[in-house]
Amino acid sequence: MTTSTYRNWQNILFFITVPLLAIAGTIWLCLFSSISWQTWTLAGVLLVCGGLSITAGYHRLFAHRTYQAAWPVQLFFALFGASAFEGSVLEWSTDHRNHHRYTDTPRDPYNINQGFWYAHIGWIFTLDESKRDFTNVADLQANPLLRMQHRYYTGFAFTMGLILPTVIAACWGEALAGFIVAGLLRLTILHHGTFCINSLCHTMGSRRYSKTSSARDNWLSAFVTFGEGYHNYHHQFPRDYRNGVRFYHFDPSKWTIYLLARLKLASHLYRTPDYHLIQARFESGAHQLSAAGINSPIIVQLQEAIQECIAKIKHLEAAYAEATLKELKEYQVKIKLATLELLHLFRQWKKQLARVPALS
Ligand SMILES: [Zn+2]
Ligand SMILES: [Zn+2]
Repeated sequence: MTTSTYRNWQNILFFITVPLLAIAGTIWLCLFSSISWQTWTLAGVLLVCGGLSITAGYHRLFAHRTYQAAWPVQLFFALFGASAFEGSVLEWSTDHRNHHRYTDTPRDPYNINQGFWYAHIGWIFTLDESKRDFTNVADLQANPLLRMQHRYYTGFAFTMGLILPTVIAACWGEALAGFIVAGLLRLTILHHGTFCINSLCHTMGSRRYSKTSSARDNWLSAFVTFGEGYHNYHHQFPRDYRNGVRFYHFDPSKWTIYLLARLKLASHLYRTPDYHLIQARFESGAHQLSAAGINSPIIVQLQEAIQECIAKIKHLEAAYAEATLKELKEYQVKIKLATLELLHLFRQWKKQLARVPALS
């Protein structure tokens, strides 16, 4: 375990002053003045715009390239992403790509093994920005919009994050409330919501898809992070535009991307094939079984059938990639049927596991 002795005083001052002013200012306004519903609405709208720009924009579009977006959408994410005061797209993405590449190691920028509070905010207090080399975001540096956002980031952040809410709220005579509530308080809520992904989602929750990393699915943080709480899934399948993979999972970022695609403003949405999901859950459970030394004949038989079925789907997928236009539909149906068969076998296997006392 390594702990940096470097102190980023600019970040320390900013991330302590903003919440203090936000909370004290809001209490003062409530006691000695008033905050109109228009200002609260403005704060809510800017919170959603900034939040989605980080999750659907910075994270899923730029850092992971899970889909492609039209230029106006990219511009919106670059502007409102800056309003979140979480760095430029290039800064955010270089750290995040390192987080995925080096998860739980000393090279992970928000390494959870250095403690909950380090992963939450401590890493920002000790962040030496001069050490970023940006070599892992060369693809993003090729985008002129992102180069421009990086160059003028500070100006964009203050304009979109603090000046804009102040000016808009001034239209109904609440410039100060706009600055405090729609500016500072909104920022505080957004920051700590985002930070929960690095702290809470690496500490509490289930590890359905992989037990090898600390990332966990946590529905509670999905509510405060626009759907980013399904973090075990995300670490296992970072190219997927969804984090909450089930239809009932709360994932507004996924819904936004889907809506953008329907409006022809986004395309090439990547979805992990269903059989990969089942395979990941199976392998994670099988690993647990072998560690516990359980090898009952029925379980072994089902495991062999599952492995055979996975091999069959892989074979079909390879054939699908080589298929002629006429054969495509036929292979799609075959893959669908084989995936249903796999799901059936997997459910049988899970039923058997539930009967094993050592695992229940
Ligand atoms: Zn993570
Ligand atoms: Zn990610």
